[in-house]
Amino acid sequence: MLKAVKFGGSSVAGAEQFEKVKHIIEADASRRVVVVSAAGKRSSDDHKLTDLLYLCHAHLTYGVSCDEIMDTIEQRFVQIRDALGLSLDVEGEMARLRGRLNRDMSVDELVSRGEYFTARLMAEYLGFAFIDAADCVFFGYDGQLDRERTDRAVADALQANGKILLPGFYGRLPNGKVKVMSRGGSDITGALAAAAVGADVYENWTDVSGILMADPRIVDNPRPIEKITYAELRELAFMGASVMHEESIQPVKEKGIALNIRNTNRPEDPGTMIVGDAEDRGEDDRFITGIAGKRNFTILTVSKHNMNANHTLCQALEIMDRYHAPVEHISLGMDSFALVSGSAAMGDALYDVLADIRKTCRPDDIRVQDDIALVAAVGRKMSSRPGVSGRLFRALGESGVNIRTIAQGADELAITVGVDNKDFETAIRVMYNGFAG
Ligand code: ASP
Repeated sequence: MLKAVKFGGSSVAGAEQFEKVKHIIEADASRRVVVVSAAGKRSSDDHKLTDLLYLCHAHLTYGVSCDEIMDTIEQRFVQIRDALGLSLDVEGEMARLRGRLNRDMSVDELVSRGEYFTARLMAEYLGFAFIDAADCVFFGYDGQLDRERTDRAVADALQANGKILLPGFYGRLPNGKVKVMSRGGSDITGALAAAAVGADVYENWTDVSGILMADPRIVDNPRPIEKITYAELRELAFMGASVMHEESIQPVKEKGIALNIRNTNRPEDPGTMIVGDAEDRGEDDRFITGIAGKRNFTILTVSKHNMNANHTLCQALEIMDRYHAPVEHISLGMDSFALVSGSAAMGDALYDVLADIRKTCRPDDIRVQDDIALVAAVGRKMSSRPGVSGRLFRALGESGVNIRTIAQGADELAITVGVDNKDFETAIRVMYNGFAG
């Protein structure tokens, strides 16, 4: 068994968090590949080191001294080192860094130092070999990750050292320069490392006990999702749930590696396990995995007698496409169809779209409904249970929620209802309380 584990900024924010990380690593000998972010906030009024480093660069650009900010950053590292009795020469290394600040330092190299120093300290503390991401995460000339080269370098480093620790968030360009990823990029490094070494599991340690079944701002204390497939996660993300970014799960997803989201502050919680579709053995009984939704959609309902013979739907879709109004859902009847699009995406084009549809499709009628919210119940097990949608619609009806449109994806992974914006939260609560809680 081999596990690749990534600790986010809040998990490595200070000496106390470093101790928790050590307990987690020591509790399981298979955790042999570790990736860390830069130290994050210790409390809500604290600063992430990455933010401070970006601020430093902004100061440099305007010719303003960033000495004070660099002092603050140095202090964070010194405090961790001293509290844990480590020996890294933070002062010496920071002095060298500061000596180069005005000259040849790129913004990418400067901000990558948050991860670099955090990883140096953590590697020493855990007794793992420090592997610089500049020596094992490679980008090509096009700025895209060079997966083959990266896979080889990380796998070789593990083989040579047995236990490795690398900083997240950055890598090296072919010209030798450091390049950082998008914000939150350590998640990507963690997934890359897990894929490179063929890990059995990629654990992503953060400060929540997994993905919640619904938005906690709407539902009180929603339960964490125990198990979810990559496909379901995609549906939830599409419907607005704030879950991990697609790019950061791709390397593990394509290799069929399970991803376990865990809480560094509550290591006893199992967290959420994200698995490939084939691995679902259906042991738990809940048939809705999660609920998510978004406000502010517009429904265009176009009616035309005998419309199929007139290719009316195709024409309308072409018009939407021409105005860059993405169609999120379509419902189709004999003599009418409804197109759902984001109101903001449609924007001012709405009136041009309507005029074009009128001219091209010559409909009997077009209706526009604004202020629509879409709410989706996502669950891989819904397709095998008859009557789920009926129960869902009845529950919404009994709570006075008027359903404006209904859509079920062809893969039956989600049932989406369109309701008035004002009923958005009620719809989510009704679905959660009736089917998920
Ligand atoms: N430290 C970087 C950031 O704050 C990357 C990361 O935390 O994953 O975005």
